[in-house]
Amino acid sequence: MHPSHFSRPVWRRPPRVSFAGEAISAPERVDLAIVGGGLQGLSAAFAAARRGLSVRVIEARGLGEGASGLNGGQVIPGLKHDPDRLLRHFGERRGEALIDFASGTADAVFKLIQSEGLAVEHDRSGWIQAAHTPEAFTAAEERNRQWGARGADVTLLNGAEVALLTGAGGYVGGWLDRRAGTINPLAFVFELARLATEAGARIATGTRAVRLRRDGADWQIETTAGHPVSARSVVVATNAYSDGLVAGLARSLVPLHSFQMATAPLPPDLREVILPHGQAVSDSRRIVVYYRKSPDGRLVFGGRGRMAEPKSEKDWKHLQSAMIRLFPALDGVSVEHRWFGRVAVTPDHLPHIHAPEKGLLAVAGCQGRGVGLMTALGPRLVDYIETGDPAALPFPVSPIRPIPFYALREIGVGVTIAWYRMLDGLEG
Ligand SMILES: Cc1cc2nc3c(=O)[nH]c(=O)nc-3n(C[C@H](O)[C@H](O)[C@H](O)COP(=O)(O)OP(=O)(O)OC[C@H]3O[C@@H](n4cnc5c(N)ncnc54)[C@H](O)[C@@H]3O)c2cc1C
Repeated sequence: MHPSHFSRPVWRRPPRVSFAGEAISAPERVDLAIVGGGLQGLSAAFAAARRGLSVRVIEARGLGEGASGLNGGQVIPGLKHDPDRLLRHFGERRGEALIDFASGTADAVFKLIQSEGLAVEHDRSGWIQAAHTPEAFTAAEERNRQWGARGADVTLLNGAEVALLTGAGGYVGGWLDRRAGTINPLAFVFELARLATEAGARIATGTRAVRLRRDGADWQIETTAGHPVSARSVVVATNAYSDGLVAGLARSLVPLHSFQMATAPLPPDLREVILPHGQAVSDSRRIVVYYRKSPDGRLVFGGRGRMAEPKSEKDWKHLQSAMIRLFPALDGVSVEHRWFGRVAVTPDHLPHIHAPEKGLLAVAGCQGRGVGLMTALGPRLVDYIETGDPAALPFPVSPIRPIPFYALREIGVGVTIAWYRMLDGLEG
């Protein structure tokens, strides 16, 4: 059976939003060409078009068929690293600017939904990072302390409080970040595409960029539409789905599969005890599991999956076991949706911004936090394109560094995942 059979996301696009796109039917010249029509590409396209630039977006798949339409819809501010660590790593000035940016990424999503009146189901009830061991709780205390000291609306939770808010057993405690929330990610992608189009950007779906080369002061992109697109600037927003378009980019990332599933709508008695106040949750296991409720009351549960594409429903079995371990009452509740997508992890667990040549930008590596990050980053990329000022970017521009022993990485990550799973199992 073809793997796509299993890719049946639970998310629905907004009922009244139709999206036709605009094919590339002749050679074009624009100010800005964007390869990849996920949140990064669309957010940049919207910002650029609103500022009067001519914009062409080239997307290989259908709209929302990359990570941006497939994700868990958890809008979480911050980065994998805590603020103090970012300060140590980037120094006072750069570090503070980055922390400020990272702190506001969830704001960027919810403000856009509000200010543009987007038809995107959303709920800003916060995100719980739940600790499954005393060591993980110590880390949560520290994270809560650091963000709290910066004025973020965060609270430390004991085990009983986590149990009440999640309905799940076995957590030592955790912390609640009220800056965060949930959205319907597919609706957000479609609405962002609508905004970008209304602002004047043209979006071609089902069209792959196959070659990128310099052409005098411009860049020229060959596409599967058969017509080239020339542009003064190019943003390669292909992230975890990067191919060979920019030399070394795909090899600088570890693309992992994240698998998700959604139960049938929960019966009223379970709805009242599982995530009764609508928070999103990630837990502290090495192989993170994350969950939330959908607007129609299903439990949407995700985690790392196998490296290869799934072959059967059995490839979601580890997730189902994890879900029932946390929520024994869900044993017997049917799983109606299963799907998966790619996330890009970098060796330093930070997003990378590359500018390998003048007029060319590439951004990748969101470590599963891209909903807020990429939405907030779009306008910054456009600032940088317009001004050339590196201070416009939250992260320093870095060279593309292919990961050594690339050929072995999938095996390496596969072994690491099996090892982590075993440790997580031992810790309960
Ligand atoms: C299952 C899953 C769950 C996740 N859960 C969360 C979550 O709850 N919260 C969170 O913050 N993040 C989550 N993430 C991560 C988040 O979805 C991503 O970080 C984010 O969507 C990245 O956006 P993007 O626009 O950079 O990339 P994408 O949305 O992946 O877009 C890249 C696009 O580039 C296109 N492309 C690639 N090559 C070419 C080419 N040559 N020509 C044309 N187009 C090309 C691809 O088709 C793709 O659509 C999750 C990811 C997955 C897969």
